[in-house]
Amino acid sequence: MQTRSKRDFYWLDVDNDGSAFCTVKFMVDHVSPQQRSRNMASVRSFGTAPELAVRSILHRLGLRFRLQQRSLPGTPDIVLKRYATVVFVHGCFWHGHNCPRGRVPSTRQEFWLPKLRRNRERDRENARQLRLLGWRVLNVWECELRDKLRLRRKLAKAFQRKGDGGN
Ligand SMILES: [Zn+2]
Repeated sequence: MQTRSKRDFYWLDVDNDGSAFCTVKFMVDHVSPQQRSRNMASVRSFGTAPELAVRSILHRLGLRFRLQQRSLPGTPDIVLKRYATVVFVHGCFWHGHNCPRGRVPSTRQEFWLPKLRRNRERDRENARQLRLLGWRVLNVWECELRDKLRLRRKLAKAFQRKGDGGN
């Protein structure tokens, strides 16, 4: 099978009087259909398993959201603009949750401790910046996904609007 690299093409449209009025750039990628479907699949499923689970809960709660807003500090995983809320789905280990999964290994602590401390500091700083910008910051921890019903209740409560009734 012949493979060619991706190439950019530039199109120059010429008006009646001969002046160029528009430049269109598009990309033609010569990838096999299999490869293309793999690429598409990876686009569709981007996000870790815990992220996907949280998105599915929010979706079932009827909430609309955007993903990975890079313009916001820390690139929040989920952004619910209508509720001025961002959600981070954090792995317990990497983000230093106070739970069994967040425990630092007993070996090579000199390696892990500073690394994990930096992650926590970065999380705190991002959250602080986001709050300054008027966002509410919600963290969902990986371990919370073990009890989905409970997590669903937590999220439902967080996004309960006034007048929804407090059933
Ligand atoms: Zn945890």
